[in-house]
Amino acid sequence: MTDQSSRKLIIAIDGPAGAGKSTIASRLARKLGYINLESGAMYRALALKAIEWDISFEDEAALLKLAQNSRIQLEPSMGGNRVRLDGHDISSRIRERDVTEAASRVSVHPKVREWMVARQRELGIGGGVVMEGRDIGTKVFPDADLKIFLDADPVIREQRRLDQQQIKGPSAQDMAAELRERDLRDRTRVISPLVPANDAVILDSTSLSEDEVLRRAEALVRQRMESN
Ligand code: C5P
Repeated sequence: MTDQSSRKLIIAIDGPAGAGKSTIASRLARKLGYINLESGAMYRALALKAIEWDISFEDEAALLKLAQNSRIQLEPSMGGNRVRLDGHDISSRIRERDVTEAASRVSVHPKVREWMVARQRELGIGGGVVMEGRDIGTKVFPDADLKIFLDADPVIREQRRLDQQQIKGPSAQDMAAELRERDLRDRTRVISPLVPANDAVILDSTSLSEDEVLRRAEALVRQRMESN
């Protein structure tokens, strides 16, 4: 699919962990010649810095200061975003379990979110972007051209995560429990909880292949471009 519109769109993809956002966002961006920005990677980068600097995940003021004094860079690449923190490549480290857990804790703080949202707006404002996260359609770009809320049955999401990370045995149960806990925290936090925007298209990937989800997302983009 080629982008026939002169104006480059802002596409928001939100949804819970394991629904397939990252894969779909990066494949869709590649097809459109857009950049893919993974907003979760920014929260993960801050979480990693908090771990390294021994800052409490509860200390909003210290976390904000840490964010303000950090250089978090997202570099779109073929295999997902490369992420740099203060010049160091942290792309793999931020996928580990301790950082995953910490990211969902640092992201509950309103001031941290405000700072992140401002950075994310700067990155996406020019359009030609597929940005994924939890609050892109509701907060970061409430006027996004297209909003997709990608969801899936929780059991399927857990299984996908376990398969992705090739986890079996007792640690699979721990990981599934962590995912449920993280989901609950993301959905019930006071500020910007994970909810579909009123005008989001809900795409349930429970019984769809990755290719099928991508086809549906492409069809939505095409519709949106034609209506421009
Ligand atoms: O998407 P990812 O799993 O990398 O996000 C890690 C965590 O960052 C999420 O569990 C969520 O708590 C937080 N997050 C957020 N808002 C976003 C993206 C991620 O609160 N837009």
